[in-house]
Amino acid sequence: MKKKKKNIRGLSLKELQDFVESLGERKYRAAQLFSWMYAKGAQSFDEMTDISKEFRVVLEHSARIDSLDLVRKSVSPTDGTTKFLFRLNDNLMIESVLIPPEETSPAAERRLTLCLSTQVGCPLDCKFCATGTMGFLRNLTAGEIIDQVTHAQRHASRRITNLVYMGMGEPMLNYEEVMKSVDILSDDRSLNIGAKHIAISTAGYADKIRQMADEDRKEKLAISLHTLDNEKRTQLMPITKKFSVDDLVEALEYYYRKTRRRPTFEYIPFDGFNDTKEDIRRFVKLSKRIPCKVNIIPFHSIAFTGASGFAATLKPTPRVRMEAFAQALREENITVMVRSSAGEDIEAACGQLAVEEKKSKAKSKPTITETVS
Ligand code: SF4
Repeated sequence: MKKKKKNIRGLSLKELQDFVESLGERKYRAAQLFSWMYAKGAQSFDEMTDISKEFRVVLEHSARIDSLDLVRKSVSPTDGTTKFLFRLNDNLMIESVLIPPEETSPAAERRLTLCLSTQVGCPLDCKFCATGTMGFLRNLTAGEIIDQVTHAQRHASRRITNLVYMGMGEPMLNYEEVMKSVDILSDDRSLNIGAKHIAISTAGYADKIRQMADEDRKEKLAISLHTLDNEKRTQLMPITKKFSVDDLVEALEYYYRKTRRRPTFEYIPFDGFNDTKEDIRRFVKLSKRIPCKVNIIPFHSIAFTGASGFAATLKPTPRVRMEAFAQALREENITVMVRSSAGEDIEAACGQLAVEEKKSKAKSKPTITETVS
């Protein structure tokens, strides 16, 4: 029977060392493979010109380098945000979004951020999120997470400097593969994207927040918060039934005490739901317990998903009131950023492209508007 080739994309340096040794080669070959795949984005053994021809033949027979298939790339004509739709080996779809800096300082202009997916779909069903409407299909492997960066880097005009694990899926439900990808991408023989330029986001897995603190993980932590009212949060984000607002705040206090790193709170203001004076008061109280930063994000409509019930009642807070909300927090010495509606014209909110793709497939319509080779 023909031996199955091993997919080596996603292997750590140590795993690559074990693999090359199993093929009768010396360990240092693993460092070459590591750098070819992760630093130089090689897609085949042929490209690895400093590896002897004999060993490349051995590799061809025993290994493969799996790659995502880029189906569609959409570039926003207004702000340059670039959205990638990828097909996985089992035909499922995921997305990544390349986000140019919003500020105009020279330091900010060198920044280029990629938002990564960690799961296909998501089980958490947050009511404002297109991905949530897809349900959960599977976790991504470390290799599939890393390959989003490899592809995006090939299409980017300059080096990707920052990563945010905030695309499709809840990263904490795929903790091992997520952290493995972080460790590979931050290695200086790979893309060398330092931990302080990587943010991991969660909808509220208090246990994993404590784990990150215990493991002294250096990445930034972001919390998709959206309200401090437990009842409202349960309505908006059903994960709150598992970890209440109090559980979350206690875990964050623990995290801050142990790491001295300020978490970032992501906050989407919804008209009349979580943008009141009471919400500001609660936030200020929280900031006294946990020094933090706040990102205010305008709501991208998910009306196209056929949202019904509570989800259909969610409307964005008008821009003027959103700015006033931010200003009220700033006056209490909280660091606040109000995000632009980056990529709204190309459906750049989490899950929008993949959901559209799934819906069009169901209707058997042609789906690819711009095929990229
Ligand atoms: S917001 Fe994040 S955690 Fe919530 S459903 Fe969407 S992808 Fe999942």
